[in-house]
Amino acid sequence: MIVGAGPAALATATLLRCHELGPLEIIDPQGRWLTAWHHRFAAQSIAHLRSPAVHHPHPDPFALLATAGPDDLVRSGQANLPTTGVFARFTADLVRAARLTDAITASSVTSLELLGDGTAVLYLADGTHRRPDRVVLATNRRVPSEPLALRDQGGGGHPAVRQGDRCDVRSTPAGGHVVVVGGGLSAAQLCAGAAERGARVTLIARSRLRVRRYDTHPTWLGQKQLRRFRAEVDPVLRARMLAAARGGGTMPHRNRVLLQRLEDAGRLCLRERRELADVGSTSEGVRLCLDDGEVLAAAELWCATGGRIDVATDPLLTQVRRLRPIAIAGGLPDLDDALRWPGTNVHLTGAAAGLVLGPTAGNLVGHRRAAQRITAALRGLDPERADRITTGSGACPGLGIWPPHRPRQGSALQPRTAAQPRNDPARKGST
Ligand SMILES: Cc1cc2nc3c(=O)[nH]c(=O)nc-3n(C[C@H](O)[C@H](O)[C@H](O)COP(=O)(O)OP(=O)(O)OC[C@H]3O[C@@H](n4cnc5c(N)ncnc54)[C@H](O)[C@@H]3O)c2cc1C
Repeated sequence: MIVGAGPAALATATLLRCHELGPLEIIDPQGRWLTAWHHRFAAQSIAHLRSPAVHHPHPDPFALLATAGPDDLVRSGQANLPTTGVFARFTADLVRAARLTDAITASSVTSLELLGDGTAVLYLADGTHRRPDRVVLATNRRVPSEPLALRDQGGGGHPAVRQGDRCDVRSTPAGGHVVVVGGGLSAAQLCAGAAERGARVTLIARSRLRVRRYDTHPTWLGQKQLRRFRAEVDPVLRARMLAAARGGGTMPHRNRVLLQRLEDAGRLCLRERRELADVGSTSEGVRLCLDDGEVLAAAELWCATGGRIDVATDPLLTQVRRLRPIAIAGGLPDLDDALRWPGTNVHLTGAAAGLVLGPTAGNLVGHRRAAQRITAALRGLDPERADRITTGSGACPGLGIWPPHRPRQGSALQPRTAAQPRNDPARKGST
């Protein structure tokens, strides 16, 4: 059973289908695949992914490229980035091909009881419960990292203050003033989206805006960095390596250029190395004080300040933590090679598996690696080895020849063999 139906869950569910392992049930309150993903992309009006087209939930890195035409890809350096549209189409086709549409039960898991033998019983909001052979938690539960000024004053409850997934350019107050807090790609996209929809925008960033193509350096896709990471026995040091590799928010060059253009056109005010010192409400929105004394009146405050995984406060893991205590560093559990909470039948995927997978755990490429580890364990194979192997066209026997290789005119896909070339593009670029 998989809890959650985001891309991390889809990667695992797909690979289980590839190897005809099951039965399989996915629990998600939305009752559909990738709802949170699609919402985020629409809310930020995102045209294309940050990660290359070889990163997606199918085990064959080239599967998406096989279905993509030239209009479906955006060139970025040496990589092709899939448009939001082609990614949505590809994942929808994949869900159908892997017979995963009806595998979802529309409910949420409200609690997890751990029995004496280490197996979990899951209690659902619809009043039913399950006792599956294996559980994969793919909930991506994050504690929002809100600005201190909001935390101190409980300002997050103000109707004009939006945080994380609640920031939505489609509800831009046209002609109004929108203040965005954050220094990453989400903040940049929210600024551009609000400005395009007629708002005056101010961006407040704690440090100087930093440009980086992907959110993690591509060397983290190779075995050299990962070997060094895995060789570190102390989870606290591994958590530090991970935090250093991800750093704070960054944005690709094209987004930084767009912000500059908006600033030059007078549609964006950029306040770098500033922090919110105080937030108060007014009849027309919010009144914001910055740490340099500047005061701003805004119709809305959008906080694109992200969030962090903290399994130590995850209610689904309360009993697991108490009955099978393990090291938790930087909010992440020290899982075994199969991403299993030791002594239980509960596996974790997504960013929560960062202490094993490294800094790309929360990205599409990490979801695929998690799926490889978990599936290998279920097949009695070595998870560590499964993670090292680069998969190719033979990676999904259960789905037969899928996707049907029908390169459209001018398709980016060249004929390929099951063995990947040495400079495998699947290893190029993270998110
Ligand atoms: C705006 C944005 C753009 C991104 N772009 C990229 C990109 O281009 N490339 C890349 O590699 N990464 C990208 N990422 C990072 C990452 O791939 C996404 O955040 C991705 O959605 C994470 O997948 P997930 O499955 O772990 O979590 P989610 O997509 O958040 O899915 C978690 C699911 O779990 C469900 N759930 C939660 N609690 C329960 C419960 N108790 N019971 C049942 N279900 C539950 C939720 O309803 C949700 O459907 C992006 C992130 C953001 C925010």
